[in-house]
Amino acid sequence: MTATKQRNVFEKISKDSVYSKLIEIFGGNYVTKKDVDLYPYSQDMTENEPHMPDFVVIPENKEQLVELVKFCNEYSIPIVPYTTGNNVGGLTIPDYGGIVVDFGKRMNKILHVDDNMMYALLEPGVTFGQLKKHLDENFPSLRYSFPNAPPYSGVVGNALLSGMTNLAAKIGSMADSINGLEVITADGIVARIGSCFYGEDKAKDDSWWCKYPMPDLMGLFINFQGMTGLITKCAVQLWPKEPIEKPQLVVFFGLTDLGPFLREVGRADIVNDVAAFSVEVAKMEVGIPEPVRYPGEPYYTAVMPMTAKTENQMNAKLEILND
Ligand SMILES: Cc1cc2nc3c(=O)[nH]c(=O)nc-3n(C[C@H](O)[C@H](O)[C@H](O)COP(=O)(O)OP(=O)(O)OC[C@H]3O[C@@H](n4cnc5c(N)ncnc54)[C@H](O)[C@@H]3O)c2cc1C
Repeated sequence: MTATKQRNVFEKISKDSVYSKLIEIFGGNYVTKKDVDLYPYSQDMTENEPHMPDFVVIPENKEQLVELVKFCNEYSIPIVPYTTGNNVGGLTIPDYGGIVVDFGKRMNKILHVDDNMMYALLEPGVTFGQLKKHLDENFPSLRYSFPNAPPYSGVVGNALLSGMTNLAAKIGSMADSINGLEVITADGIVARIGSCFYGEDKAKDDSWWCKYPMPDLMGLFINFQGMTGLITKCAVQLWPKEPIEKPQLVVFFGLTDLGPFLREVGRADIVNDVAAFSVEVAKMEVGIPEPVRYPGEPYYTAVMPMTAKTENQMNAKLEILND
């Protein structure tokens, strides 16, 4: 453990007093300081050094979070926002202890899907699987964009980290698909960014269609890994779902062939995305549990999600790809 990680976060207030305050804000059932509960939040699947939080809280609404932020600001207690902890970067490990705020358990509702303006208004805990199921069942002509992450990982966390997904060659990073944010800043102010800024104290669900017309302050919260504010609502752009889907896979024996292929295909404007994997990882993606490569097999694969409006359009795209 490094010296900085030994910082005492309870210099200004006792740990017992913090616990009492957290129970006052969130209720006894939604605050824990038991090691057995804290342990899963102390690590992720990466090699980053684990560290235990002092408390985990499970919020239900922004009012609780405003109170929490003001309290923690006054006593300099670290807060680490957490959705499902699948960021593969150690980003939710509480390096200095303090309070992990788990958004995944109760702030996980799809608040609104706007069929007309094609966006979904989400609480931070909504997962990719949850959003896909909701769209497939209720809005079959709309789609979101999905990473190679497990379906139980978070949509908002991914967008805040500017994730790259299976539409990335067309639409860029997922941060570019954020239409609006509701965020609690470090001093406890609730700010709304994007077209949702209209309205006195509550943005209407149908007002989250784009990140303008005001100056774009989105960058103050994207890729900051939760350090500049707690997001309580996020609107993400949806896309028309094309009926024909034919994902393609090409194998390679060397990087010298793979690099130019990725560049040329990316520029051809025919694929939704193009990503390279080792053959071991590609096999795991289709259900082989262990990473294996047999002698003589190629080393790399390029995977290309492709969709089209008609068979003719798909055939034209495949013809360009084969060329
Ligand atoms: C096997 C695997 C494959 C993956 N493949 C891809 C891929 O192909 N493309 C890709 O882009 N990603 C990929 N990922 C990463 C994953 O998609 C995203 O990192 C994940 O969706 C983030 O969501 P989360 O719920 O895990 O967020 P968390 O890990 O819980 O949080 C992510 C970050 O956001 C912060 N945060 C969380 N909630 C809030 C909030 N309410 N307010 C402010 N900050 C907050 C956290 O502090 C943290 O810094 C993969 C992950 C795995 C495990």
